[in-house]
Amino acid sequence: MQPYPNVKLFINGEWRDAFGAETIAVVDPATEEMIGRIAHARQADLDLALEAADKGFRIWRGISAFDRSKLMREAADILRSRVEAIAYMMTREQGKPIAQSQREVMGAADTIDWFAEEARRTYGQIIPARVSGVTQAAFKMPVGPVAAFTPWNFPINQIVRKLSAALAAGCSIIVKAPEETPASPAELVRAFADAGVPAGVVNLVYGIPAEVSEYLIPHPVIRKISFTGSTPIGKHLAALAGKHMKRTTMELGGHAPAIIFDDANLEKAIDVTAAAKFRNAGQICVAPTRFLVQDGIFNEFVDGFVKAAEAIKVGNGLEDGVTMGPLANDRRIPAMEDMIRDALARGAELKTGGKRIGNKGYFFEPTVLADVPTSAKVMNDEPFGPLAIVNRFSHFDDAIAESNRLPFGLASYAFTGSLKTAQALGQQVEAGMLTINHNGLALPEVPFGGIKDSGYGTEGGPEAVEAYLETRFVSQMG
Ligand code: NAD
Repeated sequence: MQPYPNVKLFINGEWRDAFGAETIAVVDPATEEMIGRIAHARQADLDLALEAADKGFRIWRGISAFDRSKLMREAADILRSRVEAIAYMMTREQGKPIAQSQREVMGAADTIDWFAEEARRTYGQIIPARVSGVTQAAFKMPVGPVAAFTPWNFPINQIVRKLSAALAAGCSIIVKAPEETPASPAELVRAFADAGVPAGVVNLVYGIPAEVSEYLIPHPVIRKISFTGSTPIGKHLAALAGKHMKRTTMELGGHAPAIIFDDANLEKAIDVTAAAKFRNAGQICVAPTRFLVQDGIFNEFVDGFVKAAEAIKVGNGLEDGVTMGPLANDRRIPAMEDMIRDALARGAELKTGGKRIGNKGYFFEPTVLADVPTSAKVMNDEPFGPLAIVNRFSHFDDAIAESNRLPFGLASYAFTGSLKTAQALGQQVEAGMLTINHNGLALPEVPFGGIKDSGYGTEGGPEAVEAYLETRFVSQMG
Protein backbone atom coordinates (compact mmCIF):
# COMPACT_ATOMS: atom_id res chain seq x y z
CA MET A 1 0.00 0.00 0.00
CA GLN A 2 1.11 3.57 -0.63
CA PRO A 3 2.06 5.54 2.48
CA TYR A 4 -0.52 7.81 4.09
CA PRO A 5 0.89 11.21 5.15
CA ASN A 6 1.14 12.81 8.56
CA VAL A 7 -0.73 16.08 8.30
CA LYS A 8 0.31 19.48 9.61
CA LEU A 9 -1.56 22.71 10.23
CA PHE A 10 -1.47 25.24 7.39
CA ILE A 11 -1.20 28.76 8.77
CA ASN A 12 0.00 31.91 7.02
CA GLY A 13 1.23 29.94 4.02
CA GLU A 14 3.30 27.45 6.06
CA TRP A 15 2.79 23.80 6.93
CA ARG A 16 3.64 23.61 10.61
CA ASP A 17 3.45 21.42 13.68
CA ALA A 18 1.36 22.63 16.59
CA PHE A 19 3.26 24.75 19.13
CA GLY A 20 2.71 22.08 21.75
CA ALA A 21 3.78 19.33 19.30
CA GLU A 22 0.55 17.48 20.15
CA THR A 23 -0.88 15.12 17.54
CA ILE A 24 -4.07 13.09 16.96
CA ALA A 25 -4.11 9.56 15.48
CA VAL A 26 -5.87 8.77 12.19
CA VAL A 27 -7.45 5.32 11.79
CA ASP A 28 -8.28 3.46 8.56
CA PRO A 29 -11.94 2.40 9.04
CA ALA A 30 -11.44 -0.66 6.81
CA THR A 31 -8.54 -2.12 8.82
CA GLU A 32 -8.71 -0.26 12.16
CA GLU A 33 -4.97 0.42 11.80
CA MET A 34 -3.46 3.72 12.81
CA ILE A 35 -2.25 5.15 9.52
CA GLY A 36 -1.00 8.60 10.41
CA ARG A 37 -1.10 11.52 12.80
CA ILE A 38 -2.26 15.11 12.53
CA ALA A 39 -1.09 18.24 14.29
CA HIS A 40 -3.46 19.22 17.09
CA ALA A 41 -4.04 22.98 17.36
CA ARG A 42 -4.54 24.68 20.69
CA GLN A 43 -5.11 28.33 21.51
CA ALA A 44 -1.64 29.58 20.54
CA ASP A 45 -1.99 27.95 17.11
CA LEU A 46 -5.49 29.39 16.71
CA ASP A 47 -4.17 32.85 17.60
CA LEU A 48 -1.61 32.51 14.84
CA ALA A 49 -4.33 31.40 12.40
CA LEU A 50 -6.52 34.36 13.39
CA GLU A 51 -3.65 36.80 12.85
CA ALA A 52 -2.96 35.18 9.46
CA ALA A 53 -6.63 35.28 8.41
CA ASP A 54 -6.87 38.94 9.41
CA LYS A 55 -3.81 39.78 7.31
CA GLY A 56 -4.92 37.45 4.50
CA PHE A 57 -8.30 39.18 4.31
CA ARG A 58 -6.69 42.59 3.76
CA ILE A 59 -4.59 41.16 0.94
CA TRP A 60 -7.31 39.07 -0.73
CA ARG A 61 -10.03 41.72 -0.76
CA GLY A 62 -7.54 44.04 -2.50
CA ILE A 63 -7.07 41.57 -5.38
CA SER A 64 -9.54 42.09 -8.20
CA ALA A 65 -12.35 39.59 -8.65
CA PHE A 66 -10.89 38.90 -12.10
CA ASP A 67 -7.54 37.83 -10.62
CA ARG A 68 -9.08 35.94 -7.71
CA SER A 69 -11.09 33.98 -10.23
CA LYS A 70 -7.94 33.05 -12.19
CA LEU A 71 -6.17 31.78 -9.07
CA MET A 72 -9.19 29.71 -8.14
CA ARG A 73 -9.38 28.11 -11.57
CA GLU A 74 -5.68 27.31 -11.34
CA ALA A 75 -6.34 25.56 -7.99
CA ALA A 76 -9.13 23.53 -9.64
CA ASP A 77 -6.75 22.37 -12.39
CA ILE A 78 -4.09 21.40 -9.84
CA LEU A 79 -6.66 19.40 -7.90
CA ARG A 80 -7.71 17.53 -11.05
CA SER A 81 -4.10 16.72 -11.90
CA ARG A 82 -3.68 15.07 -8.45
CA VAL A 83 -6.94 13.13 -8.39
CA GLU A 84 -5.42 9.65 -8.07
CA ALA A 85 -3.19 10.44 -5.09
CA ILE A 86 -5.87 12.44 -3.26
CA ALA A 87 -8.60 9.85 -3.84
CA TYR A 88 -6.30 7.18 -2.39
CA MET A 89 -5.85 9.21 0.81
CA MET A 90 -9.58 9.82 1.04
CA THR A 91 -10.44 6.14 0.77
CA ARG A 92 -7.82 5.22 3.37
CA GLU A 93 -9.12 7.74 5.90
CA GLN A 94 -12.86 7.69 5.15
CA GLY A 95 -13.53 4.24 3.71
CA LYS A 96 -15.61 5.07 0.61
CA PRO A 97 -14.87 3.14 -2.60
CA ILE A 98 -12.05 4.68 -4.60
CA ALA A 99 -14.34 5.53 -7.53
CA GLN A 100 -16.51 7.62 -5.15
CA SER A 101 -13.38 9.36 -3.81
CA GLN A 102 -12.27 10.16 -7.35
CA ARG A 103 -15.71 11.58 -8.15
CA GLU A 104 -15.55 13.70 -5.01
CA VAL A 105 -12.19 15.20 -6.01
CA MET A 106 -13.28 15.89 -9.58
CA GLY A 107 -16.61 17.29 -8.36
CA ALA A 108 -14.71 19.60 -6.01
CA ALA A 109 -12.67 20.95 -8.93
CA ASP A 110 -15.91 21.68 -10.80
CA THR A 111 -17.27 23.44 -7.73
CA ILE A 112 -14.19 25.66 -7.52
CA ASP A 113 -14.56 26.51 -11.21
CA TRP A 114 -18.20 27.42 -10.79
CA PHE A 115 -17.51 29.71 -7.82
CA ALA A 116 -14.52 31.20 -9.65
CA GLU A 117 -16.93 32.26 -12.40
CA GLU A 118 -19.38 33.62 -9.82
CA ALA A 119 -16.55 35.64 -8.23
CA ARG A 120 -16.76 37.99 -11.19
CA ARG A 121 -20.48 38.58 -10.77
CA THR A 122 -20.79 40.05 -7.28
CA TYR A 123 -22.64 43.10 -8.56
CA GLY A 124 -23.95 45.96 -6.47
CA GLN A 125 -26.81 48.29 -7.45
CA ILE A 126 -27.37 51.89 -8.41
CA ILE A 127 -30.69 53.00 -6.91
CA PRO A 128 -32.62 55.89 -8.52
CA ALA A 129 -32.45 58.88 -6.18
CA ARG A 130 -35.33 61.17 -5.16
CA VAL A 131 -33.22 64.28 -5.57
CA SER A 132 -31.37 65.26 -8.71
CA GLY A 133 -27.58 65.25 -8.38
CA VAL A 134 -27.59 62.40 -5.85
CA THR A 135 -26.10 58.98 -6.61
CA GLN A 136 -27.23 56.10 -4.41
CA ALA A 137 -25.08 52.99 -4.57
CA ALA A 138 -25.29 49.64 -2.79
CA PHE A 139 -21.89 47.95 -2.79
CA LYS A 140 -21.28 44.27 -2.10
CA MET A 141 -18.23 43.80 0.13
CA PRO A 142 -16.68 40.61 1.51
CA VAL A 143 -17.89 40.09 5.05
CA GLY A 144 -14.43 39.30 6.47
CA PRO A 145 -12.48 36.30 7.79
CA VAL A 146 -14.59 33.13 7.94
CA ALA A 147 -14.46 30.17 10.34
CA ALA A 148 -15.68 26.93 8.73
CA PHE A 149 -16.36 23.63 10.51
CA THR A 150 -16.85 20.53 8.40
CA PRO A 151 -17.53 16.81 8.95
CA TRP A 152 -15.91 13.56 7.87
CA ASN A 153 -18.47 12.13 5.42
CA PHE A 154 -17.28 14.18 2.43
CA PRO A 155 -13.82 15.26 3.55
CA ILE A 156 -13.27 17.57 0.56
CA ASN A 157 -16.76 18.42 -0.68
CA GLN A 158 -17.95 19.72 2.66
CA ILE A 159 -15.06 22.17 2.66
CA VAL A 160 -14.94 23.15 -0.97
CA ARG A 161 -18.36 24.82 -1.05
CA LYS A 162 -17.49 27.03 1.93
CA LEU A 163 -13.94 27.71 0.83
CA SER A 164 -14.83 28.51 -2.78
CA ALA A 165 -17.74 30.78 -1.87
CA ALA A 166 -15.60 32.61 0.70
CA LEU A 167 -12.73 33.11 -1.73
CA ALA A 168 -15.05 34.14 -4.55
CA ALA A 169 -16.49 36.85 -2.32
CA GLY A 170 -13.04 38.08 -1.24
CA CYS A 171 -12.98 36.61 2.27
CA SER A 172 -10.12 34.78 3.99
CA ILE A 173 -10.90 31.58 5.89
CA ILE A 174 -9.85 29.30 8.73
CA VAL A 175 -11.07 25.77 8.06
CA LYS A 176 -11.43 23.42 11.02
CA ALA A 177 -11.35 20.23 8.99
CA PRO A 178 -12.45 16.78 10.23
CA GLU A 179 -9.88 15.08 12.43
CA GLU A 180 -10.97 11.59 11.25
CA THR A 181 -10.34 12.42 7.58
CA PRO A 182 -7.60 15.04 7.48
CA ALA A 183 -5.24 14.28 4.57
CA SER A 184 -7.51 14.83 1.58
CA PRO A 185 -8.69 18.24 2.91
CA ALA A 186 -5.03 19.18 3.36
CA GLU A 187 -4.52 18.39 -0.33
CA LEU A 188 -7.42 20.65 -1.24
CA VAL A 189 -5.75 23.47 0.67
CA ARG A 190 -2.38 22.63 -0.92
CA ALA A 191 -3.92 23.07 -4.38
CA PHE A 192 -4.88 26.66 -3.49
CA ALA A 193 -1.46 27.36 -2.00
CA ASP A 194 0.29 25.92 -5.07
CA ALA A 195 -1.95 27.98 -7.35
CA GLY A 196 -0.53 31.11 -5.72
CA VAL A 197 -3.29 32.16 -3.33
CA PRO A 198 -1.42 34.50 -0.93
CA ALA A 199 -0.33 33.42 2.55
CA GLY A 200 -2.98 33.88 5.23
CA VAL A 201 -5.96 33.70 2.88
CA VAL A 202 -6.58 29.97 3.47
CA ASN A 203 -5.69 28.45 6.83
CA LEU A 204 -6.29 24.90 8.02
CA VAL A 205 -6.46 23.61 11.59
CA TYR A 206 -7.44 20.42 13.42
CA GLY A 207 -8.13 20.00 17.12
CA ILE A 208 -10.93 19.30 19.55
CA PRO A 209 -13.99 20.59 17.64
CA ALA A 210 -15.68 22.20 20.65
CA GLU A 211 -12.46 23.83 21.80
CA VAL A 212 -11.79 25.32 18.36
CA SER A 213 -15.34 26.56 17.76
CA GLU A 214 -15.70 28.06 21.26
CA TYR A 215 -12.54 30.04 20.62
CA LEU A 216 -12.97 31.08 17.00
CA ILE A 217 -16.67 31.96 16.89
CA PRO A 218 -16.60 34.74 19.51
CA HIS A 219 -13.23 36.08 18.33
CA PRO A 220 -13.53 39.62 16.89
CA VAL A 221 -11.45 38.77 13.80
CA ILE A 222 -14.03 36.21 12.63
CA ARG A 223 -17.06 37.72 10.87
CA LYS A 224 -18.85 34.70 9.43
CA ILE A 225 -19.43 31.10 10.53
CA SER A 226 -20.31 28.15 8.33
CA PHE A 227 -21.00 24.73 9.84
CA THR A 228 -22.01 21.35 8.46
CA GLY A 229 -22.90 18.61 10.93
CA SER A 230 -25.64 17.47 13.26
CA THR A 231 -28.65 19.58 14.26
CA PRO A 232 -27.88 19.69 18.03
CA ILE A 233 -24.31 20.93 17.42
CA GLY A 234 -25.56 23.36 14.76
CA LYS A 235 -28.07 24.86 17.19
CA HIS A 236 -25.36 25.23 19.80
CA LEU A 237 -22.97 26.97 17.39
CA ALA A 238 -25.71 29.17 15.92
CA ALA A 239 -26.59 30.34 19.44
CA LEU A 240 -22.95 31.15 20.16
CA ALA A 241 -22.65 33.00 16.85
CA GLY A 242 -25.87 34.91 17.59
CA LYS A 243 -24.54 36.02 20.94
CA HIS A 244 -21.56 37.54 19.15
CA MET A 245 -23.56 38.91 16.19
CA LYS A 246 -21.82 36.70 13.63
CA ARG A 247 -23.49 35.68 10.41
CA THR A 248 -23.97 31.95 9.93
CA THR A 249 -24.74 29.29 7.37
CA MET A 250 -25.97 26.06 8.95
CA GLU A 251 -26.15 22.84 6.93
CA LEU A 252 -27.49 20.28 9.40
CA GLY A 253 -29.08 16.86 9.64
CA GLY A 254 -31.98 15.55 7.60
CA HIS A 255 -34.26 12.50 7.39
CA ALA A 256 -35.20 12.50 3.74
CA PRO A 257 -38.53 11.05 2.61
CA ALA A 258 -38.58 9.20 -0.72
CA ILE A 259 -42.22 9.00 -1.87
CA ILE A 260 -42.93 6.36 -4.50
CA PHE A 261 -46.41 6.49 -6.07
CA ASP A 262 -48.24 3.60 -7.75
CA ASP A 263 -47.85 5.31 -11.12
CA ALA A 264 -44.04 5.61 -10.88
CA ASN A 265 -41.50 3.94 -13.12
CA LEU A 266 -40.69 1.28 -10.55
CA GLU A 267 -37.42 0.07 -11.99
CA LYS A 268 -36.05 3.59 -12.18
CA ALA A 269 -37.29 4.43 -8.68
CA ILE A 270 -35.45 1.41 -7.27
CA ASP A 271 -32.23 2.06 -9.21
CA VAL A 272 -32.03 5.75 -8.34
CA THR A 273 -33.03 5.49 -4.68
CA ALA A 274 -30.90 2.41 -3.90
CA ALA A 275 -27.85 4.16 -5.37
CA ALA A 276 -28.63 7.32 -3.38
CA LYS A 277 -29.30 5.34 -0.19
CA PHE A 278 -26.14 3.22 -0.08
CA ARG A 279 -23.61 5.65 -1.59
CA ASN A 280 -20.95 6.47 1.00
CA ALA A 281 -22.53 3.76 3.19
CA GLY A 282 -25.55 6.00 3.73
CA GLN A 283 -23.51 8.61 5.60
CA ILE A 284 -24.95 11.50 3.64
CA CYS A 285 -27.18 14.23 5.00
CA VAL A 286 -29.29 14.14 1.81
CA ALA A 287 -29.54 10.32 1.57
CA PRO A 288 -33.13 9.02 1.29
CA THR A 289 -34.04 7.41 4.60
CA ARG A 290 -37.83 7.09 4.93
CA PHE A 291 -39.19 5.32 1.85
CA LEU A 292 -42.95 5.87 1.62
CA VAL A 293 -44.36 3.52 -0.96
CA GLN A 294 -47.97 3.47 -2.16
CA ASP A 295 -49.94 0.27 -1.38
CA GLY A 296 -50.28 -0.97 -4.96
CA ILE A 297 -46.54 -1.37 -5.57
CA PHE A 298 -45.31 -1.85 -2.01
CA ASN A 299 -44.36 -5.53 -2.23
CA GLU A 300 -42.80 -5.19 -5.65
CA PHE A 301 -40.77 -2.18 -4.51
CA VAL A 302 -39.53 -3.93 -1.37
CA ASP A 303 -38.48 -7.02 -3.37
CA GLY A 304 -36.59 -4.93 -5.92
CA PHE A 305 -34.99 -2.71 -3.32
CA VAL A 306 -33.85 -5.69 -1.22
CA LYS A 307 -32.36 -7.25 -4.35
CA ALA A 308 -30.45 -4.03 -5.03
CA ALA A 309 -29.21 -3.92 -1.41
CA GLU A 310 -28.06 -7.54 -1.57
CA ALA A 311 -26.18 -6.92 -4.83
CA ILE A 312 -23.91 -4.39 -3.10
CA LYS A 313 -20.35 -5.58 -2.63
CA VAL A 314 -19.14 -4.42 0.76
CA GLY A 315 -15.40 -4.30 1.41
CA ASN A 316 -12.24 -2.24 1.55
CA GLY A 317 -12.79 0.71 -0.76
CA LEU A 318 -9.38 0.18 -2.34
CA GLU A 319 -10.39 -3.23 -3.72
CA ASP A 320 -11.74 -3.68 -7.22
CA GLY A 321 -15.48 -4.14 -7.52
CA VAL A 322 -16.31 -2.90 -4.00
CA THR A 323 -19.38 -0.68 -4.11
CA MET A 324 -19.75 0.12 -0.40
CA GLY A 325 -16.95 0.66 2.12
CA PRO A 326 -17.01 0.54 5.92
CA LEU A 327 -18.69 3.10 8.11
CA ALA A 328 -16.30 5.97 8.67
CA ASN A 329 -15.86 5.56 12.41
CA ASP A 330 -16.56 3.12 15.21
CA ARG A 331 -19.36 5.27 16.69
CA ARG A 332 -21.66 4.48 13.77
CA ILE A 333 -21.68 0.68 14.48
CA PRO A 334 -23.45 0.82 17.87
CA ALA A 335 -25.63 3.64 16.51
CA MET A 336 -26.84 1.34 13.69
CA GLU A 337 -27.26 -1.69 15.97
CA ASP A 338 -29.22 0.31 18.49
CA MET A 339 -31.65 1.73 15.89
CA ILE A 340 -32.24 -1.70 14.33
CA ARG A 341 -32.76 -3.42 17.70
CA ASP A 342 -35.22 -0.74 18.75
CA ALA A 343 -37.20 -0.89 15.48
CA LEU A 344 -37.48 -4.70 15.61
CA ALA A 345 -38.60 -4.59 19.24
CA ARG A 346 -41.39 -2.24 18.15
CA GLY A 347 -42.61 -4.59 15.43
CA ALA A 348 -40.65 -3.64 12.30
CA GLU A 349 -39.73 -6.39 9.86
CA LEU A 350 -36.10 -6.96 8.88
CA LYS A 351 -36.02 -7.57 5.12
CA THR A 352 -32.24 -7.85 4.72
CA GLY A 353 -29.00 -7.05 6.53
CA GLY A 354 -29.07 -5.84 10.11
CA LYS A 355 -25.58 -6.79 11.33
CA ARG A 356 -21.96 -5.74 11.46
CA ILE A 357 -19.81 -7.72 9.02
CA GLY A 358 -16.81 -9.43 10.67
CA ASN A 359 -14.99 -7.89 13.59
CA LYS A 360 -12.20 -6.00 11.87
CA GLY A 361 -13.10 -2.78 10.07
CA TYR A 362 -16.40 -0.97 10.54
CA PHE A 363 -18.32 -2.88 7.88
CA PHE A 364 -22.10 -3.08 8.11
CA GLU A 365 -24.65 -4.91 6.00
CA PRO A 366 -26.89 -2.85 3.71
CA THR A 367 -30.10 -3.06 5.73
CA VAL A 368 -33.78 -2.73 4.86
CA LEU A 369 -36.52 -2.50 7.49
CA ALA A 370 -40.19 -2.56 6.51
CA ASP A 371 -43.37 -1.46 8.27
CA VAL A 372 -41.50 0.48 10.92
CA PRO A 373 -43.77 2.17 13.48
CA THR A 374 -43.53 5.93 13.89
CA SER A 375 -42.47 5.49 17.50
CA ALA A 376 -39.20 3.76 16.50
CA LYS A 377 -36.02 5.76 17.03
CA VAL A 378 -34.98 5.35 13.42
CA MET A 379 -38.21 7.01 12.27
CA ASN A 380 -37.24 10.11 14.21
CA ASP A 381 -33.42 10.29 14.27
CA GLU A 382 -31.33 10.37 11.14
CA PRO A 383 -29.91 6.86 10.57
CA PHE A 384 -26.74 8.19 8.90
CA GLY A 385 -25.75 4.73 7.74
CA PRO A 386 -26.72 1.99 5.26
CA LEU A 387 -30.22 1.61 6.65
CA ALA A 388 -33.44 2.11 4.68
CA ILE A 389 -36.93 2.20 6.16
CA VAL A 390 -39.72 1.20 3.77
CA ASN A 391 -43.26 2.01 4.89
CA ARG A 392 -46.56 2.05 3.01
CA PHE A 393 -49.14 4.76 2.41
CA SER A 394 -52.52 4.91 0.68
CA HIS A 395 -53.32 8.53 -0.14
CA PHE A 396 -51.30 11.56 -1.25
CA ASP A 397 -52.17 13.44 1.96
CA ASP A 398 -50.86 10.58 4.14
CA ALA A 399 -47.51 10.69 2.34
CA ILE A 400 -47.31 14.47 2.79
CA ALA A 401 -48.21 14.20 6.48
CA GLU A 402 -45.47 11.63 7.10
CA SER A 403 -42.92 13.55 5.00
CA ASN A 404 -43.53 16.72 7.00
CA ARG A 405 -43.93 15.06 10.42
CA LEU A 406 -40.32 15.59 11.53
CA PRO A 407 -38.61 18.86 12.42
CA PHE A 408 -36.06 18.23 9.62
CA GLY A 409 -36.41 19.60 6.09
CA LEU A 410 -33.30 18.96 4.03
CA ALA A 411 -33.65 16.66 0.99
CA SER A 412 -36.67 14.79 -0.37
CA TYR A 413 -37.27 12.46 -3.30
CA ALA A 414 -40.38 11.43 -5.22
CA PHE A 415 -41.30 9.18 -8.12
CA THR A 416 -44.57 9.58 -9.98
CA GLY A 417 -45.88 9.43 -13.53
CA SER A 418 -48.35 12.24 -12.84
CA LEU A 419 -47.47 15.85 -13.57
CA LYS A 420 -50.25 16.98 -11.26
CA THR A 421 -48.86 14.94 -8.37
CA ALA A 422 -45.35 16.23 -9.07
CA GLN A 423 -46.54 19.83 -8.99
CA ALA A 424 -48.47 19.29 -5.76
CA LEU A 425 -45.37 17.74 -4.15
CA GLY A 426 -43.29 20.79 -5.08
CA GLN A 427 -45.77 22.96 -3.16
CA GLN A 428 -46.37 20.74 -0.15
CA VAL A 429 -43.22 18.85 0.84
CA GLU A 430 -41.43 20.82 3.55
CA ALA A 431 -37.83 20.41 2.43
CA GLY A 432 -35.08 22.65 1.13
CA MET A 433 -34.58 20.30 -1.84
CA LEU A 434 -36.93 18.01 -3.76
CA THR A 435 -35.90 15.83 -6.68
CA ILE A 436 -38.60 14.10 -8.73
CA ASN A 437 -38.09 11.05 -10.98
CA HIS A 438 -34.28 11.32 -10.83
CA ASN A 439 -31.52 12.36 -8.45
CA GLY A 440 -30.74 15.95 -9.31
CA LEU A 441 -29.31 17.30 -6.03
CA ALA A 442 -26.03 18.92 -5.04
CA LEU A 443 -24.71 20.54 -8.21
CA PRO A 444 -22.75 23.74 -7.47
CA GLU A 445 -25.09 25.91 -9.55
CA VAL A 446 -28.32 24.95 -7.73
CA PRO A 447 -29.45 25.72 -4.17
CA PHE A 448 -28.19 23.29 -1.52
CA GLY A 449 -29.54 23.68 1.98
CA GLY A 450 -32.28 22.92 4.44
CA ILE A 451 -35.26 24.49 6.16
CA LYS A 452 -36.70 23.94 9.66
CA ASP A 453 -34.20 22.11 11.93
CA SER A 454 -32.01 21.25 8.95
CA GLY A 455 -30.56 24.74 9.06
CA TYR A 456 -30.51 27.87 6.93
CA GLY A 457 -28.59 29.38 4.08
CA THR A 458 -27.70 27.70 0.83
CA GLU A 459 -24.32 26.38 -0.25
CA GLY A 460 -25.08 26.28 -3.96
CA GLY A 461 -26.09 28.80 -6.58
CA PRO A 462 -25.44 32.55 -6.53
CA GLU A 463 -26.97 32.87 -3.04
CA ALA A 464 -24.06 30.82 -1.71
CA VAL A 465 -21.70 33.70 -2.52
CA GLU A 466 -24.18 36.24 -1.16
CA ALA A 467 -23.76 34.60 2.26
CA TYR A 468 -20.15 35.84 2.32
CA LEU A 469 -20.97 39.39 1.21
CA GLU A 470 -22.36 42.37 3.07
CA THR A 471 -24.22 45.29 1.58
CA ARG A 472 -22.94 48.81 2.17
CA PHE A 473 -24.87 51.84 1.04
CA VAL A 474 -23.32 55.12 -0.13
CA SER A 475 -25.37 58.20 -1.00
CA GLN A 476 -23.38 60.89 -2.73
CA MET A 477 -24.36 64.40 -3.82
CA GLY A 478 -22.39 66.08 -6.57
P1 NAD B 1 -21.30 14.81 16.09
O1 NAD B 1 -22.58 15.50 16.29
O2 NAD B 1 -20.42 14.56 17.26
O3 NAD B 1 -20.40 15.64 15.05
C1 NAD B 1 -20.85 16.04 13.79
C2 NAD B 1 -19.79 16.98 13.22
O4 NAD B 1 -19.74 18.16 14.01
C3 NAD B 1 -18.37 16.42 13.28
O5 NAD B 1 -17.69 16.79 12.11
C4 NAD B 1 -17.75 17.07 14.50
O6 NAD B 1 -16.36 17.27 14.35
C5 NAD B 1 -18.43 18.41 14.52
N1 NAD B 1 -18.58 18.95 15.86
C6 NAD B 1 -19.05 18.32 16.96
N2 NAD B 1 -19.07 19.15 18.01
C7 NAD B 1 -18.62 20.35 17.56
C8 NAD B 1 -18.43 21.63 18.17
N3 NAD B 1 -18.75 21.86 19.46
N4 NAD B 1 -17.92 22.63 17.41
C9 NAD B 1 -17.62 22.43 16.11
N5 NAD B 1 -17.78 21.26 15.48
C10 NAD B 1 -18.29 20.23 16.19
O7 NAD B 1 -21.63 13.47 15.38
P2 NAD B 1 -20.75 12.38 14.61
O8 NAD B 1 -20.77 11.13 15.41
O9 NAD B 1 -19.45 12.88 14.11
O10 NAD B 1 -21.72 12.21 13.37
C11 NAD B 1 -23.00 11.68 13.57
C12 NAD B 1 -24.11 12.65 13.30
O11 NAD B 1 -23.66 13.89 12.80
C13 NAD B 1 -25.00 12.07 12.24
O12 NAD B 1 -26.04 11.37 12.83
C14 NAD B 1 -25.44 13.24 11.44
O13 NAD B 1 -26.68 13.71 11.93
C15 NAD B 1 -24.45 14.31 11.70
N6 NAD B 1 -23.59 14.57 10.54
C16 NAD B 1 -24.12 15.30 9.55
C17 NAD B 1 -23.36 15.57 8.43
C18 NAD B 1 -23.93 16.36 7.30
O14 NAD B 1 -23.46 16.21 6.19
N7 NAD B 1 -24.90 17.25 7.56
C19 NAD B 1 -22.07 15.05 8.33
C20 NAD B 1 -21.55 14.30 9.38
C21 NAD B 1 -22.32 14.08 10.50
